[in-house]
This record gives sequence, structure tokens and C-alpha cells, in this order.
Amino acid sequence: MLKCPSFDHLSVGAMNSSDPNSESKKTNQAPKVGFISLGCPKALVDSEHILTQLRAEGYAISTDYDEAQLVVVNTCGFIDSAVEESLEAIGEALDENGKVIVTGCLGARDSLVQDRYPNVLAVTGPHATAEVMQAIHRHLPKPHDPFMDLVPQSGIKLTPKHYAYLKISEGCNHTCTFCIIPDLRGPLASRPVDKVLQEAHHLVQAGTKELLVVSQDTSAYGLDIKHKTQFWNNQAFKTHMTDLAKGLSQLGVWVRFHYVYPYPHVEELIPLMAEGKILPYLDMPLQHASPNVLKAMKRPGKIDRTLDRIQTWRKHCPELTLRSTFIVGFPGETEQDFQMLLDFLQEAQLDRVGAFAYSPVAGAKANALPNPVPETLQQERLQHFMEAQAQISADKLRQKIGQRMTVLVDGLSEDHLLLARTTADAPEIDGVVILDGADTAQAGDFLEVEISGATEHDLIGVPLNSE
Ligand code: SF4
Repeated sequence: MLKCPSFDHLSVGAMNSSDPNSESKKTNQAPKVGFISLGCPKALVDSEHILTQLRAEGYAISTDYDEAQLVVVNTCGFIDSAVEESLEAIGEALDENGKVIVTGCLGARDSLVQDRYPNVLAVTGPHATAEVMQAIHRHLPKPHDPFMDLVPQSGIKLTPKHYAYLKISEGCNHTCTFCIIPDLRGPLASRPVDKVLQEAHHLVQAGTKELLVVSQDTSAYGLDIKHKTQFWNNQAFKTHMTDLAKGLSQLGVWVRFHYVYPYPHVEELIPLMAEGKILPYLDMPLQHASPNVLKAMKRPGKIDRTLDRIQTWRKHCPELTLRSTFIVGFPGETEQDFQMLLDFLQEAQLDRVGAFAYSPVAGAKANALPNPVPETLQQERLQHFMEAQAQISADKLRQKIGQRMTVLVDGLSEDHLLLARTTADAPEIDGVVILDGADTAQAGDFLEVEISGATEHDLIGVPLNSE
């Protein structure tokens, strides 16, 4: 087998430990990975990262094709002779061992590798320790670690077992004047899509029935890393909201998207919703409807286009639930601006709405804006706004009486009502279905119910299969 310095160093170091017997016993039990490292110093560093991770997880490194249970080949693709050398190394590893994972620069041209060697286990590009480790875990499970294995793969969660938040990015590239999140958390930093999908997979394995995708700006997901393609479950996914939705839809649970700004590519989610692959639900913070106020807020997008988009989305997915949040009484908001907001509310007929009276946040640029709205007027407008929305919500919920729908049981409320949610209700922020019957239902159960009543924000449902 070809060698690299770090490979030799690590394997020899393990053999030469002060207690050869115990080390060899450990090494005998540990799954063994062979490693071939080709190419430049950058590739060498990638090899070091993978080897370090392998050792940290308890794998042994083997210099022997027969002894290794799997071989990783870190390739070079810089010039033709390097490509040929890499391809030969892959061929040799396949002949001598049979189980081969390819990474590195040649791996970025995966069709070249796959065409010549269709039986390699996985191919990744360079600088892809996590993807390589994922492929190794799939084909050679990591050894039991009595300390780390006490922590569930899904991590420690603060939500009930049946739903979980899935954070896909941190920070934000916008500069909304009322917000200091970009100052606190920096610009957009997206998590690679394979990491997010793997976390989601672990959560589902641990019993999660509903995944709630969250970030500061979900529509912008992956922009900062140029929507880099990653591999998960032997499929290529771009680090992009649409591909993320496609990957999550394979997990067989409810998938709900939050903080989705109405950019044009949001329409790519609508067919997935219409086909039942993700929930027909969009949480879309709009904050206002008056162009003047939106300009003062420095919000992205144009509100008239948003109305057009909403109509198109509903045409293609009539069951779509739209949730939004608004700020009332922003500095400079006139009666006319507020009326535009009320008009928008009537026209958009949003299903779920949250609203707040503007209040200054230390460090926000909006604090310096002229013409603050007096607090009493802010509260009057807020009340007016919420009453208008309560009427829209009550009308919409009344139309659901008599319909049959699937609900996810959340459990007992403080006053001992059994509560559930439909696809239209996110936990904590939207309404609930108060179950009439179904005394044996548990949190996390899916039930079919018929809606028998409605209030301003909640529904009452009778389970169809209750005894
Ligand atoms: S309000 Fe949202 S979009 Fe605007 S800066 Fe803050 S986090 Fe970004």
C-alpha cells in the first residue's frame, strides 16, 4: 500500500506504545482503516484531519491491505499524470482490498472515478472530513465509546421528544434597522446540507415526528458557501433551501419551514408541499406592508410582489397555511401607512399572524429615526390590527368545521385538555386542536379527527377512531 508520512507515523506510533499487549488488544478489536494519501500539502492536511478523526473515534489505522477492513484513497487531480496515479491507486486498493472510499481533488470529478470504478463505496471532493467519516460510518461502523455513546446521536434536546428544531444557519446578511442580530451573530453562516440532513436523520431515529427548520433567513440558506454540493445517503444535495427540503422529505416525518422570506425561489417549495412531501406551511416574517415603512426598516423585497406570489402559491397549493409577523407603530408610521397594513391583511388573508408594537432595541439604527409613534397610539393600532386579524382567523377556522384532518398529539395542557396540532399549526406560536375524546392518545401520536368546532384561534376535534 502507498503510504503518507502521517499514516506511517500514526500506525507505527500505535504499535510502539508502552504497553504493546494492551495496545495490540485494543487495535485487534478496533475496526481497521487503510489510508493512501496522494497530492500536495493541502491534500496532506486533509489526510491528517481524516486520520485524526479516525483515531479520535477509536478506529485503528492499518498499513496492510489484508488487515484493513476498508481503504480510503485521498487523490490528486492537478495534472494528467497525477490523475492517472490516483486512478491506479484506487484500482490497486480495489484489487487488493475491495472496499474503497475515494476523496480529494479527483473526487471532485466524481464521474471520472465512478466511470472507471463503479464499485467504489463513496466519492467525495477535497476538504471533506465529515463526508468521508459519514461514508466510513456507513460501511464500517465506529467502535463503541462508553462515554460518548451515552449522549444520544440526536444530542440533548429541550423540546418534547416528538418535535425538534433544526437550525440550518447562523447570522444574517440583511441590515434591518430595528434588528441587531447581524451585529450579535455576524453574517450568514450556513451549515453544510449533509450535516443538517444527518442531524435530522438522527432526530427521526430518536423519535422525532416533526422537524422545524429554523434560521434567521431560511431562503438565503447556502448563499455564503455558494450552495456547495454535499453527499448524504449516496445522493448529491446543494446547500440550498430547495434541496434541503427534498432531503428532509425522505425522512417520513412532518417538515415545517420557518423564517422564509418571499424570494422568487420559494415557489420551488410549493410543488413539494402540494405533493405532501413537506408541510404546506410557510412562516414568512413580513413586518409591514407600507413601502415607506419597509424602506425605513430596510427590509428586503417588495410587498406588491409578495401579494402576487401568495396568490400564485395558493393556486398551486390551496391548503397552504401562511404565517407572518408584523411590527406596528414603527417610527414614521403614518395613519396612511397603517391603513395600508390593514388593507394588506384583508387582501392577503393570512392564516396565522403575530404582531408587536415597535420598541427600541439598544444599538438598533431605527432608534435614531425621526417621528416616533406615541405609545398610546402604538397600542391603539396594535389592538385594531389584532382585532382585524382575529376576525380573519375566526372566519378561516370556522370553514374547517366538518373537515377531516390528521393531527399530531402534543399531550395534556395545564388544565388537563388533550391538545394536538394540524399541519397548519406550529408548536408554541400557532393554534391547537382540543381533542374531544381519545383519552388514551399519547404525545407524538398521529390521529385522524373531524373538526367539530372552532374559536378565534383554535379548533375542537373528535378522533375518528376513538372507542
Ligand atoms: S430582522 Fe431578520 S432579516 Fe432583518 S437583519 Fe434581523 S435577522 Fe436579518
